[in-house]
Formats: sequence, C-alpha cells, structure tokens
Amino acid sequence: MAKKFICNGMLGKLSRLLRIVGIDSAYSNEGMAILLLARKEDRIIVTRNTRLRGKKDVFFLDKTKPEQQLQTVVDAYNLWSEIKPFTRCIVCNEKLISVTREAVKGKVPYFTYKHFSKYAMCPQCERIYWKGSHYKNMMHEVQAVLGET
Ligand SMILES: [Zn+2]
Repeated sequence: MAKKFICNGMLGKLSRLLRIVGIDSAYSNEGMAILLLARKEDRIIVTRNTRLRGKKDVFFLDKTKPEQQLQTVVDAYNLWSEIKPFTRCIVCNEKLISVTREAVKGKVPYFTYKHFSKYAMCPQCERIYWKGSHYKNMMHEVQAVLGET
C-alpha cells in the first residue's frame, strides 16, 4: 500500500509539494494532537518539531528549503515510483477524477475550454485542473526534484 504522510507546523509548503507530485499528504497545525490523528489514519508524521523527534512513525526533517524537504522524504521512503503529478488536489489532498470537456463547459475560462481537452476534478472542492499555465507553474516548483529521477 502507498505510504501516507501528515506534515505539520512549518511544513505547509512541503505538504503542497507532495500533493503536486501525487503523494498522499495531510496537514495539521494542532501540535501534539497530530500523534493521534496520524495513528488513526495510518500516516507518517513529517515534522520539524523537535518535541516529536524520535517518536514512532515520525520523520524529523532538518532541511529548511521545501524542495530539499521533498527530495529528502521521497528518498527516505523510496517514493520515486509513486510520483504521479497531476493526480491529487493541492487544496484538499483528494484524488482527482477525470472529467470530460463537456462537463467543464462554463466552469473554466472559454480560452481554456477551447484549447484543452483533458480535465480532472477534485471530488471534494470541485476545483478543476488542466495542464495549462497553472500546471506548468506547479511543475516548475518540483522540477528540480523530479529532474533527478
Ligand atoms: Zn479539492
């Protein structure tokens, strides 16, 4: 089964990067309550909080740059084969579902509708994704890391 993570505190950016590359990554800012949450959902805690260091199923990060943090986590848990960009909602961490062009008509800008034929939607927030400039910007963020695969 694919590994699942939960980032906390200062690692909001890392959590977003993990989602961009398709890895299940929740986020919590609730201090020590994260231990219960992680156990309940069977997630590995990724943190820079020294109070959590050394606890079971906690991965302590000493890197400060989000891109380096992403690479460290992917390396440590050997996630290279699980990287699937454009498969997960950046906002809610839900898996995206494919939707037809007809289904997004009127919900995306007309230019987008005209020029893109493939779309994906988040079942939770109904945000629509396509491989336009936003996608390119997202990929640019993780390019340094993905480039080394
Ligand atoms: Zn969403």
